[in-house]
Amino acid sequence: MIDFIKDLILHFSIILSLGFMYNFLWMQKRSVYKKQIFKLAILAALLVTMALPVRFHGGMEFDLKLIPVFIAFFYLSRTDGFLIVAVLILLQGLVGIDKLPVTAINYGVILLLFLAIENPYKITTVNRKIALGLFVNALITSTRLAALINSGNAGDYKYLLVFSLMSFIALSVIIYIIEMTNLQIKLMHELHKAEKFSAISQLAASVAHEIRNPMTTIRGFMQVLQGEKNLSDNQNLFITISLQELDRTQTIINNFLALAKPNTGTKDKIDLSAILKETIAFMRSYSHLANTELVEAIDKNLSIKGDAHEIRQVFINILKNGIEAMPSGGSIFIIAKVEGDYVRIQFRDEGIGMTKEQLARLGHPYYSTKEKGTGLGMMISYDIVQRMGGRINVESEEGKGTTFTILLPCE
Ligand code: ADP
Ligand code: MG
Repeated sequence: MIDFIKDLILHFSIILSLGFMYNFLWMQKRSVYKKQIFKLAILAALLVTMALPVRFHGGMEFDLKLIPVFIAFFYLSRTDGFLIVAVLILLQGLVGIDKLPVTAINYGVILLLFLAIENPYKITTVNRKIALGLFVNALITSTRLAALINSGNAGDYKYLLVFSLMSFIALSVIIYIIEMTNLQIKLMHELHKAEKFSAISQLAASVAHEIRNPMTTIRGFMQVLQGEKNLSDNQNLFITISLQELDRTQTIINNFLALAKPNTGTKDKIDLSAILKETIAFMRSYSHLANTELVEAIDKNLSIKGDAHEIRQVFINILKNGIEAMPSGGSIFIIAKVEGDYVRIQFRDEGIGMTKEQLARLGHPYYSTKEKGTGLGMMISYDIVQRMGGRINVESEEGKGTTFTILLPCE
């Protein structure tokens, strides 16, 4: 019995060391030969587990050679899996030629099974992978049990069960360690990418900022020129167009800067009722120009936590889109009230609406159906609301109108 446990522990640690080996090798970015080293480690583990099998008193022997095959096949490559099986069969020929046919058939079946599930295995969850390990283990255990009964040692089944359980635990732990290592590496890559992206966007933001100053100068001179009396009609038209284009560029840069601006994290208590009213008043002249009406029903004393400047920007974007969606006039109804732990702000327009496809693309960068659109307004708005812990729901029907509902946590 003691010998049995000793053997068990020995096998368990040898096999488990493969998992830690993987973690160690893969976490070190510099090791070029990690795959080769890992392959050697797998071979070594296979060699040891086959050379020192667990012996039952009836003379039966068991080892853990399944695990190196499993790991090589799924975590190195298919070829490596075949290689390990070839070595395994060779070793079997050396240590016990009588068992060679059975082993060859067993591992032939296992390889076929692995080949069949190779692709789904790569994309499935860790739990399912472990469940698969359990299944393969159960398969092997049943053939072993059959061998045990055949050889008249059926009474030893308890040993076999303990051994199989241990083998399953070892395999699960290795799968878990390897999967977690891979996950960690993936997260590290993503972090690097995000950092690089953030650095680039900061640079871009400073460039955009620098462009604004000369543009203001150009705009000023253009305006002076526009005041000149002896300009031809054409010259006047060109200057007007240039001014419009400059303004458009300015809007794009401002939008971009708002997007690239790092989250300042300012979380002041702000009077949402006042800000909403202010913004609507500010947009009113623009809406009259477009022959549209802003109708408001805003409860008093709505307050939230956040950045007043940012939330104003969200309202302006949505109102502006609503006005632009009603080329032949109409109204936008704005309702704001408390709903549970949230302030609910609804903007309903009677505009052209959106198709399902358009709705799905709303908020993606540079998605715009407008000739002079930037396609950044909604993206920024989604980003701001999300950072404030809220969310935006959009319902839209083509030809009928669109309703934006913003939920923001109450202060
Ligand atoms: P832009 O207004 O510069 O086009 P936005 O990000 O603000 O960019 O909006 C993206 C697109 O979403 C718009 O071009 C438009 O097609 C659609 N959209 C946004 N709001 C509405 C709305 N209220 N009604 C209909 N379509 C809208
Ligand atoms: Mg817009």
